[in-house]
Amino acid sequence: MNTVLVTGASRGIGKEIATEFASLGYAVAINYNKSKDAANTLAMHLMKEYKVPCGAYKADVKNPLEIKTMVESVKSELGSIIILVNNAGISTQKMFTDLTGEDWKEMLATHLDGCFNCTKEVLPHMISRKHGKIINISSMWGVAGGSCEVHYSTAKAGIIGFTKSLAKEVAPSGINVNCVCPGVIKTDMLNIFDENTLNNLQQQTSLKRLGTPTDVAKAVAFLASKEADYITGAVLNVNGGFF
Ligand code: NAP
Repeated sequence: MNTVLVTGASRGIGKEIATEFASLGYAVAINYNKSKDAANTLAMHLMKEYKVPCGAYKADVKNPLEIKTMVESVKSELGSIIILVNNAGISTQKMFTDLTGEDWKEMLATHLDGCFNCTKEVLPHMISRKHGKIINISSMWGVAGGSCEVHYSTAKAGIIGFTKSLAKEVAPSGINVNCVCPGVIKTDMLNIFDENTLNNLQQQTSLKRLGTPTDVAKAVAFLASKEADYITGAVLNVNGGFF
């Protein structure tokens, strides 16, 4: 069975990515941290709707031991992971002068340790099979830099560096590593913004609409597909022409 692991798939963009892969016939491992009910409901729904094996797996991406246990469970229950989507993320807005050391560490740990921990566990199996696709979810703020989001932008820029370097290193092993940089996508993550801010963001987007989780999921599915076999180390903007 071809198995996909999507981190942070209980809600938002990750949920849509998991759904997209299930619709394509993959077995899907849905990672969650806090939203247990949502993850279990999604797994049940995907199994019923698309007749593919699915499971919900609790692990905090910051915690290497939890990730190791999760990957072992996924392998024994759903088979070897051939596609990894590092999607789990958090977002907060603060002036740099208000950022605490804890804010900084939590942001970098969730995004960068998260990518590191999950990739570290999954990659050896991909290398031994000489095949695999890793898709990391960065952000347009990781490319452009976002005011009041220095910690978030730094973490997301780090994911781009991680992607480009790992892509070169594992290309000889038949593994593609790419990165998607979403623009402003309608999920719970936007709850920190008021309506006026959201309208402004929409106006700054060339296509004059906010993105949907489906817009991102389709790009991820493309990068995971055979059609994208010659693409590695790429940074794909899915931002409606924001820049
Ligand atoms: P969201 O709706 O807030 O969902 C975040 C997901 O990440 C949830 O499933 C959450 O799981 C999971 N998560 C958070 N911390 C985790 C941890 N420590 N371990 C495991 N899972 C964790 O956010 P989203 O908008 O879908 O964002 C998904 C990704 O896209 C993030 O990396 C985000 O930075 C990126 N992105 C989003 C936007 C946007 O506008 N929405 C733009 C650019 C990039 P639980 O609920 O189970 O804890």
